[in-house]
Amino acid sequence: MPASLASQTPRLPSIDSLLRHPACQPLAERYGREALLGSLRQLLDELRESVQLGQMQAVEVSPEVLAGRVGERLAVQHRSHVRRVFNLTGTVLHTNLGRALLPEEAIEAVQMAARYPLNLEFDLHSGKRGDRDDLIEGLIRELTGAEAVTVVNNNAAAVLLTLNSLGARKEGIISRGELIEIGGAFRIPDIMARAGVKLHEVGTTNRTHAKDYEAAIGPRSGLVMRVHASNYSIQGFTTSVPTAELAQLAHNHGLPLLEDLGSGSLLDLTRWGLPAEPTVRQALLDGADIVTFSGDKLLGGPQAGLIVGRKELIAKIKKNPLKRALRVDKLTLAALEAVLGLYRNPDLLAERLPSLRLLTRPQGEILAQAERLQPSLARVLGAAWRVSAVPALGMIGSGSQPVARLPSAALCVRPLTSKRLRGRCLLGLEEALRGLPIPVLGRIDDDALWLDLRQLDDETAWLAQLDQLQGEERAG
Ligand SMILES: *Cc1c(COP(=O)(O)O)cnc(C)c1O
Repeated sequence: MPASLASQTPRLPSIDSLLRHPACQPLAERYGREALLGSLRQLLDELRESVQLGQMQAVEVSPEVLAGRVGERLAVQHRSHVRRVFNLTGTVLHTNLGRALLPEEAIEAVQMAARYPLNLEFDLHSGKRGDRDDLIEGLIRELTGAEAVTVVNNNAAAVLLTLNSLGARKEGIISRGELIEIGGAFRIPDIMARAGVKLHEVGTTNRTHAKDYEAAIGPRSGLVMRVHASNYSIQGFTTSVPTAELAQLAHNHGLPLLEDLGSGSLLDLTRWGLPAEPTVRQALLDGADIVTFSGDKLLGGPQAGLIVGRKELIAKIKKNPLKRALRVDKLTLAALEAVLGLYRNPDLLAERLPSLRLLTRPQGEILAQAERLQPSLARVLGAAWRVSAVPALGMIGSGSQPVARLPSAALCVRPLTSKRLRGRCLLGLEEALRGLPIPVLGRIDDDALWLDLRQLDDETAWLAQLDQLQGEERAG
């Protein structure tokens, strides 16, 4: 009896024999001997116990099977942490998912800038040292009417740098209705404090009048600021002072007006049927002396903060030593120039700029796509779920038009179970979708999981991995 038991107990191969085994050679080449060795040791340690307990069959410890398991582990360990996902949340410019997608022109420019030396701060004309802002200054002036520009890492940096350069040790006058928090702990009062500007708030949350600003201006005043409310809206009994009037008022007292536009669109979006957003050109025409805005929100480019406006103020901002700490890198500038270049031809912009193309996809087209994909998802999920193609409402995201909704369409997935179990089923499905090779991110709302298809470009890749969801039917 003990003898026969012993003969049934599989023997683990030795580390040495595994390392020499042909099945492990490709792994050694791909991941290196050290990593392979470590992974094999770990696996064998774990298996030893199961073998001793008699819980394993001989085939399960064959070198080929062990190599396969070690290969899977190494693949997961070496997988990049930066991963592509499908953003089916319905929010197009999703800050947590990387905001705007770059157009091909920008991707090519980034590759060029990554691969070769370039004239980042070198004037090819004179052969002398140049300034990296010069690379995009001409385009920005053309597109916004600004006299000058400087670019930093993001709009939060743009606001911080501008405030510090123009208002340090003085008072910054701003309406109480504009003391906003953008998220990620970016709060106007805190940024002002960090910039060394003393906050002088005027008016009330819903109503601020010209006389409120007027009364606040005094010998300690350094600037007047206006901030786009971005991610919230004040409705009802409200008043604010139009930019043109506020600029006039500030200038009468020799103060500059800063306007933080947040998204800052370069063109009037209503021509594409989108909600109106103030444009940078209009803010400057209205008299704002400096306008700041993001590169990766409605502009549709890389993460960046653009500071545009009057020449002498921009010169002052560029001299601030903080500018050096907040400057943009060459990849960003390369992408930004390419994106700005597309704005020269607004007629083709909605085709060529991915964020605008996605924002303007007609609801009918998205609904047709949902109807096309519905049977495939229904089949893999099985009878425990009801999948339907339905109209849905998405949003722009990143603080642009927080109350406006984009008419869109979605695959709406409902668990056909008792109300008590629905929440857990939905979380299970959400997790399974997140676990796919290209994670799929939707949103749970009203006892259903919604996959908004506005941003589903790559249908083939999405369908190709669906089969891996098989088994989720049990979740219901
Ligand atoms: C988004 C936003 C910011 C921050 O811009 P980032 O580019 O994300 O740093 C600042 N101000 C306003 C009004 C915004 O909407």
